[in-house]
Amino acid sequence: MSSIAENLNAIGSTLPREGVELVAVSKFHPVNALVEAYAAGQRSFGESRAFEMRDKAAALPHDISWHFIGHLQTNKVKTVVPVASLIHSIDSERLLLAVNAEAERIGKNVDVLLQVHVAQEDTKFGFSPDELIRLVTPDLISSLHRTHITGIMGMASNTEDTDRIRADFRAIRSCFDTLSAGAFNGDPAFRTVSMGMSHDYLIAIEEGSTMVRVGSAIFGDRI
Ligand SMILES: *Cc1c(COP(=O)(O)O)cnc(C)c1O
Repeated sequence: MSSIAENLNAIGSTLPREGVELVAVSKFHPVNALVEAYAAGQRSFGESRAFEMRDKAAALPHDISWHFIGHLQTNKVKTVVPVASLIHSIDSERLLLAVNAEAERIGKNVDVLLQVHVAQEDTKFGFSPDELIRLVTPDLISSLHRTHITGIMGMASNTEDTDRIRADFRAIRSCFDTLSAGAFNGDPAFRTVSMGMSHDYLIAIEEGSTMVRVGSAIFGDRI
């Protein structure tokens, strides 16, 4: 089996030199696996559970960017906001407002992505593209004093059908482009399209991803 450093290198060599950030999804992996990735130069890690992210952040160097990628319950907002540099998984207006309220309370700015749902499965969280385009208005954006919507996150259908996967990524990118030209009026701070995982990140990049979330291809199977 190849090492974490070798896996990071191999993935790094497949990424365009600029414009695509690699988030190493370390959920369920022990701290020593993250230490290994850190030693290889990785500085962005993705976690899907609030307490796990908090505890790993406390145990690891402070120059790491923590990305929260899992479904976030409002009662965990207090745990996640102080630690996260980017929350990928805002899937309701209520959650967005709760994150902003907590960020204001503790006086911290937090960047967030809105999760868009395009995949076939109906179990996945997120807004439909239409819902998002209706929700995000200049008024909403300017009402969030400590929370900056810097892009969107999505997942493709869980299938082997690469045409389906590509169509899903294209729909996510198109939703981003609509919001960018619409409510965000071309603001360059609205810049992130988080899409692509271990098995489909190369297709995601071809379809306009700017941030890929790769777990098992770096760390192996989750424990
Ligand atoms: C677990 C997870 C990933 C990483 O998945 P891999 O298949 O291990 O690369 C990416 N995004 C989200 C939202 C996840 O929950």
